[in-house]
Amino acid sequence: MNISELARILRISPQELRDLLPQLGFAIGQKAIKVDNNTAKKIMKEWNYLRREWEERKAAAELKKQDEVLPKEKKTIAVPKVITVRAYAELAGIPVNRVLAELMKNGIFTSINEKIDFDTAMIVGENLNLDVQEAKIEIEENEQEDKKLEAILAKEKNENLIDRAPVIVVMGHVDHGKTKLLDSIRSTDVVAGEAGGITQHIGAYQIVRQKRTITFIDTPGHEAFTAMRSRGAKVADIAILVVAADDGVKPQTVEAFRIIEAAKIPYIVAINKIDKPTADINKTKQELSFQLNITPEDWGGKIICAPVSAKEGKGIEDLLDMVLLLADTESNNLKANPESAAAGTVIESNVDKAAGPLATILVQNGTLRVGDQLCFNEVIYGKVKSLRNYKGEEVESAGPSAPVKILGLKISPAVGDILNVGEGEKIKVKKIRSNSQTSENVLSENENNNDDKTPKMNVLIKTDFLGSAEAIDESLMKLNNEKVKVKVISKGLGYITEGDVKRAEDSGAVILCFNVRISPAVETLIRERQITVKIFSIIYDLIKYVKEEMQLLVKPEIKRIDLGRLKVLAIFRTENDSQIVGGKVLDGEIENNAIIEIKRGDDFIASGKLVRLQSGKQDVNSVEKDQEAGIKFEGKPVIEEGDILVVYKEERVVNKI
Ligand code: GDP
Repeated sequence: MNISELARILRISPQELRDLLPQLGFAIGQKAIKVDNNTAKKIMKEWNYLRREWEERKAAAELKKQDEVLPKEKKTIAVPKVITVRAYAELAGIPVNRVLAELMKNGIFTSINEKIDFDTAMIVGENLNLDVQEAKIEIEENEQEDKKLEAILAKEKNENLIDRAPVIVVMGHVDHGKTKLLDSIRSTDVVAGEAGGITQHIGAYQIVRQKRTITFIDTPGHEAFTAMRSRGAKVADIAILVVAADDGVKPQTVEAFRIIEAAKIPYIVAINKIDKPTADINKTKQELSFQLNITPEDWGGKIICAPVSAKEGKGIEDLLDMVLLLADTESNNLKANPESAAAGTVIESNVDKAAGPLATILVQNGTLRVGDQLCFNEVIYGKVKSLRNYKGEEVESAGPSAPVKILGLKISPAVGDILNVGEGEKIKVKKIRSNSQTSENVLSENENNNDDKTPKMNVLIKTDFLGSAEAIDESLMKLNNEKVKVKVISKGLGYITEGDVKRAEDSGAVILCFNVRISPAVETLIRERQITVKIFSIIYDLIKYVKEEMQLLVKPEIKRIDLGRLKVLAIFRTENDSQIVGGKVLDGEIENNAIIEIKRGDDFIASGKLVRLQSGKQDVNSVEKDQEAGIKFEGKPVIEEGDILVVYKEERVVNKI
């Protein structure tokens, strides 16, 4: 048979057939025109199987080709809690299509602008020859913390809010003069200078300018730049971005700028070191404009760029005036209620050999006082023994925008933690292990402490997009009510992992999959551990399922239905745990298999069951008003002549959520 004839029957091109047959074990040359009839028959007969094998080989070869784009040696990358697929691919230096393909293999059908979480980044990273580490600087991480403070402030009534000092953070590239600038600013304050001479380093200080107080965050060390200052930016109201006029925009200038942008706070640029002969203010402005899109005010833009020399103290006062000007435009956000319980952020934390754990708090609302409970993340860390201001003076209290060092902590909080004194009052159980010298032992005794007897359904969510996980989580939270709750143990992307199964087992959770399949790898495990897994492709169905399951957890309501009353006229028989009595139905209609309450006058005597009902010696199901009835009562045999038997039944009614 001609090759072309056979190719036509098999619906591939003759050349493809020539390439393919030797691969599948048929000895056919590249230039062959014919195959013998027996071979042709065999090929046609086995074509379905041969074709599949060929396709599998092709796919494997394709994948191998794709793997050529992967790093030759394991590459370490630092990934934040969530990252877009595009940014992940860029970080890894791998074409984004290859990353998408890998995600797809794991059941995550996403687009390049969609976000994936850290766990997913780690799982797919394994096959991409990546060692995925969690990024240390996390702007998003603190967002939740910020919201906590926002929530505290949102509860304050407007009429109780008064102006507070602006809090400023200084950021910029290493060696561009941040420390020098902070020193220089501090020395403009004559009052502070006179009072204490040497200020204590507590991570922040205050100055008075034009009779107004300004707080400066003064976190130490260049090495701690990113971690500390990025957090600093979150507690600050205004940032000063320092750029050396002789060096221009540098990598950390860009990084600092991104942090400021993410924190959405107004900022001023301080062009420093203008005393240097090599200083070029114009060139610096050009770089700011081209690289960061910062257009200086004098170039028609909105950003104040103040030339200064931290070394010679030039331009510092003008810079401070600009800061105050900017604070005025922000004045709506610079409010607090000094009468409230204190809330604030940890800006420094360390353990002193002699004094134990020490921390500087920037008070952001309320007033912190000696004796206050130090409550972080709903855990009490101690009580304020004493407070020191930035001059090292002992003070009784610290109000909004004041930095203050606290003594009295039993364990160290982490920089960035939120202090909420008010929350402490709500916590009844407050066990603390006081042996700890580090913040590692932060104790959360609270998990099971909310003496919550409300039935709870634990769920684990696995979805194809982070967005759907969030949407599902949000919708589920709306189902919570005082009768029953749903708790999301964890949410993640892609196929169910062994870890998910373990977590579901430990917490008795149901795994809810949204547009995610069960991979054969964990199918057996799921069966073995008897984990319930539900797969949905419509959020509405998922929510409906959870709602129905939650309903099942709610105990039905027991409703009492009064049937009637009978007056006992005779006792026929009394045994250990039963009696047979006769009487007349006074009202209603009594029924067999009901419950009996024995009443004597107004007194309740006992209760038991009506297990047999007779009327005129006949077993009946009910006896009406004014009729006589014989009753077998099961219960303590205490019925006497003249007692009233109140007969009722109980019905279970679904307690709708
Ligand atoms: P930081 O790393 O940003 O905190 O920078 P520093 O404040 O430690 O300053 C780095 C170096 O630049 C030090 O040697 C400072 O003395 C010097 N420096 C800082 N500001 C100025 C300035 O305005 N003019 C000059 N000539 N040198 C400065």
